[in-house]
Amino acid sequence: MTAVLNGIKKNRLLALVALAYLVLFIVAPGKASSSVQNSVYYLVEMLQVLPVIFLLTVVIEAWIPKETIILHMGDKSGLWGNFLSLALGSLSAGPIYAAFPISKTLLGKGASITNIVIILSSWAVIKVPMLANEAKFLGPDFMAVRWVLTVAAILVMGALMGKIVKKKDLPADDADEKATLTIQQEYCVGCGVCVKMMPGLYAMKDNKAVVQFEPGPGVPSEKIRQTVQKCPTKAIVYLPE
Ligand code: SF4
Repeated sequence: MTAVLNGIKKNRLLALVALAYLVLFIVAPGKASSSVQNSVYYLVEMLQVLPVIFLLTVVIEAWIPKETIILHMGDKSGLWGNFLSLALGSLSAGPIYAAFPISKTLLGKGASITNIVIILSSWAVIKVPMLANEAKFLGPDFMAVRWVLTVAAILVMGALMGKIVKKKDLPADDADEKATLTIQQEYCVGCGVCVKMMPGLYAMKDNKAVVQFEPGPGVPSEKIRQTVQKCPTKAIVYLPE
């Protein structure tokens, strides 16, 4: 019983949805059944899209160095970063919810809030396939004027969001909150494995690894745990409180 209550506590939203379905099945079985059909449709769509998206996030995580993301999409990337983000969002495919895991990975690797807003917004409203359809049904002039105005609005919105929202305001993975990460210097043999795995977080100093900043929002706790496991001398201590 306690396990069930704990499960409900941990998944409040899911429990609330299940309860809503239960009530709907009692008061309006017809509506409940169409609602289930819709949910199944979206679930199938998500199952088709999400594996590709997760593969993409893994590729970004493993193959694109943090420094590259910071340089091209970070806080100091300027108009070039805005342009790149606009292109990335516009050339994407798939529904908007597919953009969120990618955005989270990019944020964790150093992309700015402004550029993430630009990616999400252009992904949602000015994707190339969408523009092609729009031109076909409403005419190229309509599409072109809407594109120009939308891009202007997206850039303004991105700049404003960059000023208003800070990375520390974003939710962290549960395990990241109040976590401490340290390296027991006496055990570190300077092999560099941790630095190779998370070059932004760890660095070498006098042949020993050091932690460059306290991990917080956007730093994947799972990846940190992997560095703990891979450290040959178990010198890394990661303690989510
Ligand atoms: S993996 Fe472990 S031993 Fe190797 S540099 Fe990092 S902390 Fe030191």
